[in-house]
Formats: sequence, C-alpha cells, structure tokens
Amino acid sequence: MHAPGPVHVIGGGLAGSEAAWQIARQGVPAMLHEMRPLRSTDAHKTGSLAELVCSNSFRSDDAEGSAIGLLHAEMRRLGSLVMQAADAHKLPAGGALAVDRDGFSTAITAALEGDPLIDIRREEILAPPADWDNVIIATGPLTSPALAETIRTLTGEDALAFFDAIAPIVHRDTIDFGIAWFQSRYDKAGPAGSGADYINCPLTRPQYEAFVDALLAGGKIAFRDFEATPYFDGCLPIEVMAERGRETLRHGPMKPFGLTNPHQPQQKPYAVVQLRQDNKLGTLFNMVGFQTKLKHGEQVRIFRSIPGLANAEFARLGGLHRNTFLNSPKLLDATLRLKAMPRLRFAGQITGCEGYVESAAIGLLAGRFAAAERRAEPPHLPPTTTAHGALLGHITGGHVETIDAGPRSFQPMNVNFGLFPPLAGVARGARKQALCVRALADLDAWIGAAVPHAAE
Ligand SMILES: Cc1cc2nc3c(=O)[nH]c(=O)nc-3n(C[C@H](O)[C@H](O)[C@H](O)COP(=O)(O)OP(=O)(O)OC[C@H]3O[C@@H](n4cnc5c(N)ncnc54)[C@H](O)[C@@H]3O)c2cc1C
Repeated sequence: MHAPGPVHVIGGGLAGSEAAWQIARQGVPAMLHEMRPLRSTDAHKTGSLAELVCSNSFRSDDAEGSAIGLLHAEMRRLGSLVMQAADAHKLPAGGALAVDRDGFSTAITAALEGDPLIDIRREEILAPPADWDNVIIATGPLTSPALAETIRTLTGEDALAFFDAIAPIVHRDTIDFGIAWFQSRYDKAGPAGSGADYINCPLTRPQYEAFVDALLAGGKIAFRDFEATPYFDGCLPIEVMAERGRETLRHGPMKPFGLTNPHQPQQKPYAVVQLRQDNKLGTLFNMVGFQTKLKHGEQVRIFRSIPGLANAEFARLGGLHRNTFLNSPKLLDATLRLKAMPRLRFAGQITGCEGYVESAAIGLLAGRFAAAERRAEPPHLPPTTTAHGALLGHITGGHVETIDAGPRSFQPMNVNFGLFPPLAGVARGARKQALCVRALADLDAWIGAAVPHAAE
C-alpha cells in the first residue's frame, strides 16, 4: 500500500506558510508551492515566504481589549509560526506589534526550509493536478491570473471577485434609536425579512447638503498603479456619485422613499441612510451603498455627522481595492473546503478575511483541518466564542447574504468584536474585556480537548 501523499499548499504567503507549519506539527508531510521569485505579483518584492507587502504592523497587541490582540494571543497558544517570528523580530511601536519585515520573513523561510516534513517547490501552479487529494489554496489577494481563472471555472462566474467594494459596518449598539428607526422600504418583507430589516437615519435638506459638501471635500485614498480604476455599475464610491450631481445620492443609496420616521411622522426626511443587517448575530449593520475611497479618519468624521450615527463605532471602514476573494459563505463548508470539490480547501485573504494576522489565522485553521483529514480524524472546530471561531464563522456562514442590487454583500472583514456571540448582563465598558476572557478560557478548553499527537 502507498503511504498517503503530502498535503499540497499553494501559495507561501501569510496563510500558506502558517498552514504548512501547522500541518507538519501534526506529523503530516506538506508540500508548499510558491511561485516567487520565478514569478512575482504586483505588490511582492522578494522571494521570501510570508512577505509583508505593505505596512509592517500587526496592529494592537492588547489581548484584553482588542479583537486583533486577542487573535494574537490565541495564535501564540496554538503554536503559530507567524506569531513566533513576529515576537522574535518585533520593533518598538507602543501598544502595536510591529515587526522588522526582513527579519520576520527570513525567519519564516528558514523555519519552513529547515522542517523535514515540509518540501518547498518554487513554481506557479496553474491548476491543482487531479491526483492531489488534499490541497490548500492560499494564493491571496493577488492570485496569479491563470490559477484565478481555474478557480473561477470551478466556482462559477460570480463567485470569485477581483475587486472588493467595502461599505462601512457599524456596531448596532452604538446607533441612536432616539433618531434612527427600523423599517424596510414600503414595509416589504422580502424572502427572509420581517418588513423592518433596515435601520434608517433621516437627513433634512440642510443636513444632506452639508453631507454632500463634506464628501466632496473629504480626503481620498488614491488607487495603486496596478489597480486601475475598478468602477462598475452598482459599485461607485459614494463620493464619486456625489461628484456626478448634488441630487445623485438622493436618487440612489440615500433615497427617502417608502419610509416614515416614527419619531417625526409628519416630517418627510429629505434623504435617508439605510443600514442592513450584516451578520446572523444581528450585532453588525452595513451602510447600504456606501463603498468609498475616503480616508479612514475622514469616514469616521463624515459618517458621524449622519443623524443617529453621532456615536457610531465602526467594525469595518469602507474601501475599494484590487483583491481576489470567494463568495465563501455560499461555496465553502465549515472546514473551508470547496463544497463542489472537497479535495480543495481555501485559506487566507482569498476566503474573505482581511489583514496579515487574520490571513495567517485562517491558514492555521486550514492546516489543522487538512492534517486531521489526512490522519482520518474528525475536524476540530474552534468555539464560536474565540477569535478564530468568530472569524471562521464570518467566512463560512455568519454573514447574512442579501440579494439587493449592487456589490456582493459578502465583503472582506478584519476580526472585530461584532463577530462574537454577545455577552448578556455585562456593562458596556467591561464588554470587550469580558469577551476576551471568555475567548481565552474557551480556547484553552478547546486545546485541552484536542487529540494529543505528541504523545503517540
Ligand atoms: C497592495 C496590498 C497592500 C496590503 N497592505 C496590507 C497591510 O498594510 N496590512 C495588512 O494587514 N494587510 C495588507 N494587505 C492584505 C495582505 O495581502 C493580506 O492581508 C495578506 O498578505 C494575505 O495573506 P495571504 O496568505 O492570503 O496572501 P499573500 O500573503 O499575498 O500570499 C499569497 C502567496 O501566493 C503566491 N501565489 C499566488 N498565485 C500563485 C500560484 N498560482 N502558484 C503559486 N504561488 C502563487 C504569491 O506569490 C504569494 O506569496 C495588503 C494587500 C495588498 C494587495
């Protein structure tokens, strides 16, 4: 009988490097296929594995009050190579974890090259060969065009996006319901709704005029050279819509029709901003049609001028970038396998998470799931109360799919507390810390319940 072959990992970025490491830690051989330096992307500059293409920051390292810091802490407890290398090459950056980018990726490359269970091949994979029975595709936001085309053929025309069109997402409990109200346009229930599925924020004419002025004057982020301008119908940035005419927004995403403000039923709003439920937990609402290239600080300032959003906290701010990502909630199963071809599993930014650390965390899970499958063990899913479980939930099912016109509703997401099941009976000021405490306790119990391979 033949020994089972390796798990094939395509892409040696943040996710693929972590996945290969985790596979090997489970005693399973991995073959890591990375196309650089033979062929590069528009953003990478070296042949190193896990290259950081832009900033050198892993963001906040606070595991008691920030979701990304919590994810760091969980990854450390799960033996993450990315976190080991980050900690070994950290630079002074206040409460953030910043790293020496060359030291970081050199350390990861050396660790993977030195691992007897990992075989690194420098080659571009155009399509995973049919005899690879256990594959992780972790080719990232700049997946090579040939492989992207293969994936598109496997998943369907609309299932793989080449740009994101991100509208800001607001934590529901920071919206002022003394001003805003729940109502669907013309009270239509739709296929899965109640007739009151949207949160509406009303603007008077002077407020609308001031809002349009602020959008026009607000600082914007330019596209990178290689991105080109990805505008297409149904996905124009709001500031571009505002440039096309002062009334354009009022006839587009801010139209006031079919809505009655219960706080002032006699007064018709001049314009309305609508927010739609984004996750099954009902904790997050996205600003419908508000994809934007405004700078993040400008978004916070300008969007807080909308009545009802003065104290809004944003789980995600808007953006529009070159990206490559799947409609994962529809296409992937609970362990990140393509439902239509389960020998293929996806990891990293291509699944719809956003950021270096999140991509590595999803690589960590994908590696463990793939190794368990190779060992004929059941997958060990992280609790939904952990940062890993919350992020995985966003990718594989927590997002509420909508069928409205406009950009696809599943869009990339950083880890944030809105993705966690809420905690009842905890004062607002103590909530983040309580979520972190619960997450780490549940993670430790989960790790304790894992099959101890080392003892075999
Ligand atoms: C321009 C740009 C700037 C960014 N800035 C930041 C930032 O400042 N902070 C942040 O947190 N995130 C940033 N991101 C997001 C960042 O890319 C991801 O968070 C992270 O690198 C994704 O990890 P990944 O492993 O999914 O993909 P990557 O790290 O991109 O790794 C994918 C790997 O797959 C390889 N590959 C692609 N196709 C093939 C193929 N067919 N065969 C073999 N190998 C292949 C690539 O060469 C690459 O090494 C940025 C993204 C871009 C595009």
